[in-house]
Amino acid sequence: MRFITPSFTSNQFGLLDLNAIALNTSPAFSLRREHPTGRSYSAFLKAFAEHFDIPVRCGIDVRDLSPLPAGGFELETTAGPLRAGFVIWAAGEFQYPWLQPFPGAEHCLHSSLVRSWSELPGDSFLVIGGYESGIDAAVQLSRLKKRVTVLDRKPKIDPESSDPSTTLSPFTAERLARARASGRVEVVEGVDVVAVDRAKSGWAIYAADGSVRISKTQPILATGFTGSLTLIRHHFEWDDDGAVQLTHEDESTRTPGLFVAGPMVRHKNVILCFIYKFRQRFAVIANAIANRLGVDTAVLEGYRKRGMYLDDLSCCDERCVC
Ligand SMILES: Cc1cc2nc3c(=O)[nH]c(=O)nc-3n(C[C@H](O)[C@H](O)[C@H](O)COP(=O)(O)OP(=O)(O)OC[C@H]3O[C@@H](n4cnc5c(N)ncnc54)[C@H](O)[C@@H]3O)c2cc1C
Repeated sequence: MRFITPSFTSNQFGLLDLNAIALNTSPAFSLRREHPTGRSYSAFLKAFAEHFDIPVRCGIDVRDLSPLPAGGFELETTAGPLRAGFVIWAAGEFQYPWLQPFPGAEHCLHSSLVRSWSELPGDSFLVIGGYESGIDAAVQLSRLKKRVTVLDRKPKIDPESSDPSTTLSPFTAERLARARASGRVEVVEGVDVVAVDRAKSGWAIYAADGSVRISKTQPILATGFTGSLTLIRHHFEWDDDGAVQLTHEDESTRTPGLFVAGPMVRHKNVILCFIYKFRQRFAVIANAIANRLGVDTAVLEGYRKRGMYLDDLSCCDERCVC
């Protein structure tokens, strides 16, 4: 797996590397890679934690948390209870795939559970979901000379949008164009899959328009993630579209002292699901907590000047004139 956002050592001119998570850092510089792999980025994060002396304790699973009557929280963890004055929930999405988007989805293989595309037996595949994960699966399989049909209910290249949270990223669009040119990848739009079942000759995929497709190989599910907030869902309010409700400081509207950082953060139409977006909210949370603790926040002005402190989301206009 690789990043889709490029890394570039543009820091000298005030343009922070898109995949950097703090000032004066650049994965492009540390890793000498434009599109780091997951493994190399984790090496960057480890080096980062060591350099900045961040205490990280691994191998502990947080299962739930409870607000304490006198303030703060008790966390239920595999290492026993832990206490904290504030909690910033940053447990991401990837480890929490959405396994039941429609009846029979258990017959499919979720894309996040594939360790290597070369391990899948068969010559032709059907992928449900044609956004970043689905197209990545199709590109990888086509490189292995497999035929792939991708089904999606809506076109994922939106000519009106430049926001990679709503339209395919340039990196993926370019790879898709190459895969399509090979003749092995077909993307079928306007197909709303409503069920999957086992069939005599493989798997039957049922769509809302009444059509049925048969796949000889296990269908690949690329319909997204429920995310880690499902573990502590009851500590938040949710809107009708399933978006978590947060204050302007990314704090739970239901549970004061509980903040969210990462790709789950969204405010109305602003979806902060890329690192270069959500990293700009770290300082907002730091500011909120520091203010409550009476800590001087002057240092955060440097973050604002360098594009790492985004508290006015009204400026996130995505229009590109060309
Ligand atoms: C193939 C792929 C390519 C991507 N490319 C890009 C890209 O190019 N650019 C970009 O900006 N984003 C990209 N993303 C998305 C990006 O990786 C995520 O948005 C980012 O990793 C989220 O960071 P995070 O720290 O919030 O969560 P994660 O990276 O998911 O990290 C969560 C951490 O929390 C831990 N954890 C989870 N649950 C618990 C628990 N209950 N208790 C304790 N610990 C827990 C996990 O072990 C993990 O260490 C990509 C994702 C994938 C899968």
